[in-house]
Amino acid sequence: MDSARSWFQKFQPRDKSKSPAVPASHGKDPGKPPVDDAPSSATKQKVAAAKQYIENHYKTQMKSLQDRKERRWMLERKLQDAEVPAEEQNNILKHLEKKETEYMRLQRHKMGVEDFELLTIIGRGAFGEVRLCREKTSKSVYAMKKLKKSEMLRRGQVEHVKAERNLLAEVDSAYIVKLYYSFQDDEFLYLIMEYLPGGDMMTLLMRKDTLTEDEAKFYIAETVLAIESIHKHNYIHRDIKPDNLLLDLSGHLKLSDFGLCKPLDSSNFPNLNEPDYTPGKGAKPLPDNTSRLTNSSAPKRTQQEQLSHWQKNRRMLGVFYSWYS
Ligand code: ADP
Ligand code: MG
Repeated sequence: MDSARSWFQKFQPRDKSKSPAVPASHGKDPGKPPVDDAPSSATKQKVAAAKQYIENHYKTQMKSLQDRKERRWMLERKLQDAEVPAEEQNNILKHLEKKETEYMRLQRHKMGVEDFELLTIIGRGAFGEVRLCREKTSKSVYAMKKLKKSEMLRRGQVEHVKAERNLLAEVDSAYIVKLYYSFQDDEFLYLIMEYLPGGDMMTLLMRKDTLTEDEAKFYIAETVLAIESIHKHNYIHRDIKPDNLLLDLSGHLKLSDFGLCKPLDSSNFPNLNEPDYTPGKGAKPLPDNTSRLTNSSAPKRTQQEQLSHWQKNRRMLGVFYSWYS
């Protein structure tokens, strides 16, 4: 109930000085025109949202109470059927109650960065870093993407990060990196994702130089499946590139980094049958420095030099695209 109360407080007027204790129309000044007492549409919307929230809150509470009763009832039945001695039955049921209480406490717990032990940095991007981290209670390892709020506001990226979080929470596909939690503090937004220990496709390409035809087919096929799964949810990724294709422990590919993705109305999709549809039409020009990426007259670099050069460039490209999209 506490959370409902604190949430409800958000609906109270913030600035008390602006809301008179007695409504103006109830005043006794006959010289003033009557003030319309009807609530504004914004107030009506807030009231509807509050009503919906409270109804949902109690519906969920009732449902979880019901589920809890059912779990106990099923266990009691099983214990009776198995003819477990009374004392042992009692102990098992007590254990269940203890677990149920623990589960409810965990559900009430608000996740925060202090729930994780921060380990090594595994990637850096335009808005912050990606770190390996370990959840303190479960000891599970995750990748934590940390995004600086002020930087996102300054570059007008708020809608993009909302889309990133929503897509990750919405799409459940074997080819999309999984999101486990998202939360924020005053300075940062945090995405807690599954950790993909196989590195990214960019690094694999730098290491292997050329993939065999079978390998290429395999990765392309999985990339297509990943793209299909987000298109099915009406999102476009807009940043497909080797360093956003990550590999899991068993070598399967997963698409990540939805920082530029956009939710789409299906009416916004280009009509491929239109005669003047040209693939790539409307694509943004690359910044000047990117031409160096493909300049064949550039002096030859060692593989290590080339890798760090690519990494530097891809970071600059990320910044460029986020500025211009
Ligand atoms: P940005 O939007 O800044 O490019 P990314 O989400 O692409 O951020 O993350 C930057 C880098 O961090 C990736 O290229 C990858 O090397 C690493 N990384 C990101 N997410 C994960 C993950 N879930 N598991 C392992 N490494 C990751
Ligand atoms: Mg990226």
